[in-house]
Amino acid sequence: MTQHVTPSRALLALAEAKVPRYTSYPTAAQFGVLEEGLYRSWLANGVAPADPLSLYVHVPFCRDVCWYCACHTRPTRSEARLSAYADALMAEMVLLHAAMPAHGGISHLHFGGGTPSILGGEGLRRIVARLRDLFGIRSGAEIAIELDPRLMDERLTDALAEAGFSRASLGVQDIAPDIQARIGRPQPAELVRAGVERLRRAGIAHVNLDLMYGLPGQTARHVEASTRFAAALGADRVAVFGYAHVAWMKPHQNAIDASILPGAIERMEQAEVAESVLCSAGYAALGLDHFALPGDSMTRAAMAGRLRRNFQGYTTDDAPALLGLGASSIGALPGGFAQNEPDERRYIAAVGAGRLPVVRGVVTNEEDRLRARCIERLMCEFRLDLREVPPSMLPEIMHKLESVRHDGLVAIDSGSLLVQPQGRRFVRQVAACFDAYFRSGTARHSVAV
Ligand code: SF4
Repeated sequence: MTQHVTPSRALLALAEAKVPRYTSYPTAAQFGVLEEGLYRSWLANGVAPADPLSLYVHVPFCRDVCWYCACHTRPTRSEARLSAYADALMAEMVLLHAAMPAHGGISHLHFGGGTPSILGGEGLRRIVARLRDLFGIRSGAEIAIELDPRLMDERLTDALAEAGFSRASLGVQDIAPDIQARIGRPQPAELVRAGVERLRRAGIAHVNLDLMYGLPGQTARHVEASTRFAAALGADRVAVFGYAHVAWMKPHQNAIDASILPGAIERMEQAEVAESVLCSAGYAALGLDHFALPGDSMTRAAMAGRLRRNFQGYTTDDAPALLGLGASSIGALPGGFAQNEPDERRYIAAVGAGRLPVVRGVVTNEEDRLRARCIERLMCEFRLDLREVPPSMLPEIMHKLESVRHDGLVAIDSGSLLVQPQGRRFVRQVAACFDAYFRSGTARHSVAV
């Protein structure tokens, strides 16, 4: 186990500062009204005939809402509501297909939420089959889904395997019952183990586990036990996210006792413990919060300098166009970012009226794309060749970098900006130096560490 070193006052202030997560640049804070016509022109002109496509399908429903959740989701048990939503997804994919020029088929298909499996194994199988008919799915494509271990049975995993799913991510957070009680998600560790075994038996070979640190009452010991559990199960990838307490945006988080949330020092210690356990177990540390086994495609992508970052976090997805389907989903095209109507009823009505249901987004220009590339390389590789920064932008960026350089988080060597080992947890702060829109303290983001 690594020896924990108490961070300096300057580092503590940086850890507590609020900065974007940089799953896109410009970030969602810059989104404004987006007209459907503009989105249609991005679709028509943003994809070449041989280009692979990436699709993200959002299912904004769960059986119950966990207190810590920051996703766009609603609790429901209404089959009629779910069925209406699945019909709207089917209708939206037809509209999208009609708006697209020739392309090379889907290389990445990701179902997130919410709890996508709430649509049922058969419902998901029908959706994938329809996407396959309309868009084509390339051989070797990754078809991935986020799963709730509490809602998994043989029928579901068999249907997923039959539909062609190749990867599943299970939400675990922490295996200790006392922590689970404090976040409103009782989930015996045995359920997770059984879920992983079921997936493997069904032939879904790639299993990811998602853990969290910074939860109420959580200590480094809890994080150590949960990461050991994930490593012992042999998860291909383990993500260890810091809990973001954003109760002003997600009022259900008020059910969490904020007085027992770990402070900045404890959060850093917990993140370090997770890294130490997973690296000792043979995992490669990738980006800010991901770990993967040496043979996993994400490790291979990172070693080849091909690790990417999009709205799902770190990814191997390198398709030039990501299309979002479903309420609130976000797509990324060369022309900019487009977000669908988040309200489920308005989303269904828009699709029913034959409209692509985009409502928000941002047009990107050449400077945005240059800054986005710098931010993505820093978030993925912790280094950047400063020759990639146009000379006209360099003075402003070097000026902003001065304080993180002074704190020892970055160094410049042979024309490259290098995030130092002690600066890796603060890479969002370094990335913010390349963000032309970010003003410290003006937008509500989560804490940096
Ligand atoms: S199951 Fe996942 S998406 Fe649903 S409320 Fe819990 S954390 Fe959020």
